[in-house]
Amino acid sequence: MPEVINLADKVEKQLPAELVGFLRTAGEVAAGQGQSLYLVGGVVRDLLLRRVNLDLDLVVEGDAIKLALQLAEITGGKVITHSRFGTAKLRWQGWSVDLATARSESYTKPGTLPTVKPGSIDTDLFRRDFTINAMAVELIPGGYGRLLDPHRGKADLEHQLIRVLHEKSFIDDATRIWRGLRYEQRLDFQLETDTLKLLKRDIPMLETISGDRIRHELERIFQEEYPEKVLSRAEKLGVLSTLHPSLKGDSWLSEKFRQARSSSLPLSGLYLALLAYRLTDEENEQLISHLKLSKSLGQTLRDTNHLKGELGWLADPALAPSRVYRLLHGYSQSALIANLLASDSPVVQGHIRLFRDKLRYVKPSLTGNDLIKMGVPPGPRMKEILQQLHGARLDGKVKSKKEEEELVRRWAARGK
Ligand code: ATP
Repeated sequence: MPEVINLADKVEKQLPAELVGFLRTAGEVAAGQGQSLYLVGGVVRDLLLRRVNLDLDLVVEGDAIKLALQLAEITGGKVITHSRFGTAKLRWQGWSVDLATARSESYTKPGTLPTVKPGSIDTDLFRRDFTINAMAVELIPGGYGRLLDPHRGKADLEHQLIRVLHEKSFIDDATRIWRGLRYEQRLDFQLETDTLKLLKRDIPMLETISGDRIRHELERIFQEEYPEKVLSRAEKLGVLSTLHPSLKGDSWLSEKFRQARSSSLPLSGLYLALLAYRLTDEENEQLISHLKLSKSLGQTLRDTNHLKGELGWLADPALAPSRVYRLLHGYSQSALIANLLASDSPVVQGHIRLFRDKLRYVKPSLTGNDLIKMGVPPGPRMKEILQQLHGARLDGKVKSKKEEEELVRRWAARGK
């Protein structure tokens, strides 16, 4: 007889009281409906690891929507249901919980989404990626807290191993290759020997995955605390080159990612710009289309690459601020910061910082209306004067509205 392990204590201690209360209620309501209810996936793994995880995933043997609707009434939460998938999301006061009907999955063709049928908790656990993610905690009264661990995930957690459930796992869904590397590096675990062999064998299966799904995996990697560890491991195993053969997960990238974390920008655009930094224009375009990047992310990569080509100009220590401004304005923040981090030249870095911290905020005091009042007619000439004023402001040649007016008058007098 396998040992019965109960995690009720861990649930009480590690989850906020509000969520614990919810789980108890949910178990009672499910039982009242004649259904079984389980906490599954990442949160169970993290309860055993004592890691904080408030993303609650529940699996219902029966009908998740029916349970979610009744729970919404009782707890006063908001519910969103997807009848096609038999799933629901419950939200209340800053918390949310996902409920799904237990299912079984079969893959007819590698890389495509599986055929889904209603199933039991056992089939639902069997469809999962790794043993450490294929555990459940029963929530109905009587069984409350009981751990279901049909694939020995707890033992793998103890031995710090990432192990697939069966030898076709990466063929069915090669995104699990990226997922495996992500968990391995996040948790400081090892891919179990046979899993590692299967992973290497099945790297070509990544070709069966759509650009959207690969991009999604990359985004999830960028949400990790240290994405560079995943990319470095991916390079060593020959996985990174499936994104693009010229990408590198080396010490340069690690150092730049580390520095990127002290910037206040959203990290994922910046990480991507740094990852793609050493690509040529052509390779950059290949990556953009392979990952089906959004217009704005694609633009960030193009901007970054374009600015990289201008850095030679910015290396001149005698550059006037107005020239620095002209070279740097119009680029996205991520492109600027990626180049700031990537450049080795203190002069270039100084110019980018000057632009970021000061020049981009500098504007002339005089407006078009002021110029009209001074007798300058609207038109291309006025535009030119405004640009020259802007330059004079940037270079510190004028410091006040009064000085700007004098300058405009002088130009007018000279017929300039
Ligand atoms: P994280 O801690 O990164 O949020 P998670 O374990 O909660 O990870 P999710 O991606 O939110 O992971 O997925 C929830 C669960 O669904 C996983 O724990 C895993 O059991 C299962 N799962 C997710 N993606 C796959 C997949 N591609 N193949 C098989 N099972 C998967």
